[in-house]
Amino acid sequence: MINILKKLLDFIYYKNCYFCHKSDENSVFCSDCYNSIKFLPYKPIFTIGHIKVFSVTYYKNITQKLIRAVKFHNKKQLTFFQAKLMYEYWQKLNINEKNYTVIPVPTYSIKLRKRKFNHMNLICKHFCDLTNFSLDTTSLIRNRYTKPLYSLSKSEREKNLKGAFTLLNKNLNSPILLIDDISTTGTTLKEIISTLKQNGINNITCFVTAIAKTN
Ligand SMILES: [Zn+2]
Repeated sequence: MINILKKLLDFIYYKNCYFCHKSDENSVFCSDCYNSIKFLPYKPIFTIGHIKVFSVTYYKNITQKLIRAVKFHNKKQLTFFQAKLMYEYWQKLNINEKNYTVIPVPTYSIKLRKRKFNHMNLICKHFCDLTNFSLDTTSLIRNRYTKPLYSLSKSEREKNLKGAFTLLNKNLNSPILLIDDISTTGTTLKEIISTLKQNGINNITCFVTAIAKTN
């Protein structure tokens, strides 16, 4: 009992950096680790048709650990830092548009139950708190289970995702900012863009925390 109480008090009052385990800043993400993340140039990493895709950084080192912690290990406290990184990068882009509707890439609900919380919705909530953009987590859904993409070839990825998204509310306020944590070849973003375009929505920008290098 005393042990449990001690652990609880530690959890409340005493925070170690998740990445380097130092406790001097009493933060789950110390400034040394946070500042070690190198931002990519402030321009699109690639485009899908005419649509720009921006990424904060590459999927490696601390960023890889951060994304995995949030996605697979339920580290809810780190979602704020992931959003903060995205916000700091976004600020440098000199995009004047102030009224984006932010849509997180949807997760299928069975995966979500295992995960306890919807990490993309939470990251986007923090991002919208920082930017004052509007958050829309209900208009776009993933209508079926799709296999994880990392094990599939490019053509298998496209086949696997074909028709996997449904737009429930067709009266979205443009422009749309589509947000995901990680992109490799842009297959998921491409499929969502196609769904949005089929519904007459063309003013779209994509933004991910990290881009995975395929080579
Ligand atoms: Zn650290």
